[in-house]
Amino acid sequence: MNISIIGSGYVGLVAAICLAKLGNEVILIDADEDRINSIVNKVSPIYEVGLDAIQKQVDIKATSNHQLMIDSELILICVGTPTNLDGSISLEFVVTAASQIASVLKEKEDYCVIGVKSTVVPGTTRDTIIPILESSGKRAGVDFGVCAVPEFLREGMAVYDFMNPTRVIIGEFDKRSGDIASNLYHAFEAPIMRTDLTTAEMIKYASNTFLATKISFINEIGNICKLLGINTYEVAKGMGFDDRIGSKHLNPGIGFGGSCLPKDIKALIAKAKQIGYEPRILEEVLRLNEEQSKNLVNLLKKHLTNIRGSNIGILGLSFKPGSDDVRESRAINVIQALLQEGAKVKAYDPLAMEKFSELFPEVKYTNTQEVMECDATLILTEWPEFNELDYKGKLVIDGRLIPKAKEARIYEGICW
Ligand code: NAD
Repeated sequence: MNISIIGSGYVGLVAAICLAKLGNEVILIDADEDRINSIVNKVSPIYEVGLDAIQKQVDIKATSNHQLMIDSELILICVGTPTNLDGSISLEFVVTAASQIASVLKEKEDYCVIGVKSTVVPGTTRDTIIPILESSGKRAGVDFGVCAVPEFLREGMAVYDFMNPTRVIIGEFDKRSGDIASNLYHAFEAPIMRTDLTTAEMIKYASNTFLATKISFINEIGNICKLLGINTYEVAKGMGFDDRIGSKHLNPGIGFGGSCLPKDIKALIAKAKQIGYEPRILEEVLRLNEEQSKNLVNLLKKHLTNIRGSNIGILGLSFKPGSDDVRESRAINVIQALLQEGAKVKAYDPLAMEKFSELFPEVKYTNTQEVMECDATLILTEWPEFNELDYKGKLVIDGRLIPKAKEARIYEGICW
């Protein structure tokens, strides 16, 4: 299939490389020239396991020229949908991308399908995107088709997840649109569920907010277990044998971050309120998540009474291991709080130091040795290499459960 993808972030770039690997002709369009140059030179602007290797095997056209999508049979919108100050979703990039498609549609003679992969609140494709596309003078269901095809990949596992989806959700404007979008996924063994546009959009939000809920839930159980002197990881393991519960996303710790869960839960809360519904569970999930990272700093204060002027070492800055993404990383909250208390912060992360230094230039980015020489060390991301360090004689506050860190002179975990 001849496919254009708008947006070359984690979703767009991975989709482009993987769809090219599956034999499609792919044009990847991004407004950011630096990203495009890097992709043209076959250097990935993001880190994802396996991405570099496939990128070198395939040929995709990377460009900032939106006109090049004129011959595409399928156009996928993969631009970001960040959070507005009030928590609601910002559709700024989606609206721009839809307008750019509309100007191409004006001149386009063949039928094509526009697929929305960006995560957008229910109703967005129908009420915002289609009207913009139709401003071209062309009609949905006649001149072009529309689908909502939410993406479920996990950063750090993005290539694997794209190639091995657990399910494919296709929200279709009409059968013809859905048939064409389904063709894209014929190589996968995953079940394909076809539904309407708004249901597909809601499936994405319900999935992500459920995952966030599971994390805040187990963190709450972890906080209670800690007070009762019970091993919370043993509890989680015991629960996980029940296949109604499952063992995934049951690791107590300092909470969820990343570009999706915090943003999506805020967006659904805002959408619910906008239509007059008070989403009590979702609000509590978010509140608990914010408190959890603050609790880590309180634990530190218990053992180090004078944080002002102390050197505090940080192990882990990315929101999860295997990724260089620092968006909504819990390290942001923790480091912000430490700096406010007057601490001197030294940090190490195998992949994310460069991105993090844009947010906190005042932090010293260094190696594990210097971090371990600090007055106290905080573990914020569960990188496997942190289980190889020598913690003997140190003061360690652990937000992610690194077993070896328990050797420390003083050791305390967030929920253990
Ligand atoms: P990102 O911020 O990493 O990348 C978005 C890219 O789009 C940027 O490179 C930006 O320059 C480009 N862009 C914006 N407007 C453009 C335009 N008009 N034309 C061309 N390029 C444009 O975003 P991401 O993390 O890939 O996420 C994209 C969407 O997918 C979001 O809605 C997100 O919620 C959703 N999603 C993300 C993940 C994830 O793990 N990152 C997983 C599932 C779904």
